[in-house]
Amino acid sequence: PETITVQELAKRMGERGADLVKSMFKLGTPVTITETIDRDTAELLIEEFGHRFVPVSEADIDIDTSIDVDADETLQPRPPVVTIMGHVDHGKTSLLDAIRGADVVSGEAGGITQHIGAYQVTLKDGSKVTFLDTPGHEAFTEMRARGANVTDIVVLVVAADDGLKPQTIEAINHTKAAGVPMIVAINKIDKPGANPQKVREELLQHEIIVEAMGGDVQDVEVSALKKTNLDGLLEAINLQAEILELKANPERAAEATVVEAKLDKGRGPLATVLVQRGTLNVGDIIVVGAASGKVRAMIDDHGRQVKQAGPSFPVEVLGLGAVPSAGDQLTVVENEARAREVAAYRQSVLDKKRTTSAPVSLENMFANRA
Ligand code: GDP
Ligand code: MG
Repeated sequence: PETITVQELAKRMGERGADLVKSMFKLGTPVTITETIDRDTAELLIEEFGHRFVPVSEADIDIDTSIDVDADETLQPRPPVVTIMGHVDHGKTSLLDAIRGADVVSGEAGGITQHIGAYQVTLKDGSKVTFLDTPGHEAFTEMRARGANVTDIVVLVVAADDGLKPQTIEAINHTKAAGVPMIVAINKIDKPGANPQKVREELLQHEIIVEAMGGDVQDVEVSALKKTNLDGLLEAINLQAEILELKANPERAAEATVVEAKLDKGRGPLATVLVQRGTLNVGDIIVVGAASGKVRAMIDDHGRQVKQAGPSFPVEVLGLGAVPSAGDQLTVVENEARAREVAAYRQSVLDKKRTTSAPVSLENMFANRA
């Protein structure tokens, strides 16, 4: 139900509750401060006080995005975003490192790489793939909990000498819940005790039917240590990406998601973001979660300064006023006043979430405004 108490509305408007009550009286509808009013009445009051309508749902907070859908003709193919998950010690980090080594660009640049929580590799055929290398499960679930679904494809790593383990099963469940397609990388096939077939059979018990068993989940045997068949894995990712037909409009104000953030002593708050649509530019005024700022500089995964970041491109952003959280949305706004307004609003939502235990029934109060 779209209702709000007079008190709450007053708080959000930054007005005194008593003044709202007075106004309501003038409008011919006497209410007390603790009574609820409906959406239309609230709108009326907001206008009465000369305030602007601020959508309440996170999805709609963004004034020039979210509501609008990019027209088909503006869409261009974008690289897939891949998360590697699996049981501890099954080789996630080794695989990420090995794949990173397969990047033709880092080869050219002398292999200078920088850990920013995500990286993009360019394959021999020129195609690109973005990998999140934040600690798998937590980042994935944390981001999903915040409504951010940045992962297009999950690579499930299973050690061929160890088989399915608790965190493997956990990863399978997360992936299913997210509705993200999976590729199984059967790792450590160089080991004497490796038994890839056993892995495939164990997967059956979790309704994962790999291609080798007649299903449609791609399975690839690899060795991260010996760098065996990394091409096969990357091909499988590319094939899956083709099926997904991943596209985004690069020619618009950027929308991005934070994958990692920290405070750097010298450089201040740093946030690694993954652009989902549009292009982020140095100089853009941004709101990230409840923080705002101006993009002072952007650094890619090779430690190079870049002026622009398009869809699926991970960059570290400098210039924020505070450290955001993984899963926070980055939005480009038209000016600093608007940035502060949106940031303050988001902060008030956060505060509210912290102080109220009762579910917020007003969450969507203004969300459906056309
Ligand atoms: P993570 O916990 O999933 O990130 O696993 P790591 O990448 O840290 O690997 C755990 C251990 O397995 C390390 O000692 C790696 O050297 C080893 N390892 C990873 N991949 C392979 C592989 O393909 N073959 C062999 N023999 N060892 C591997
Ligand atoms: Mg690791």
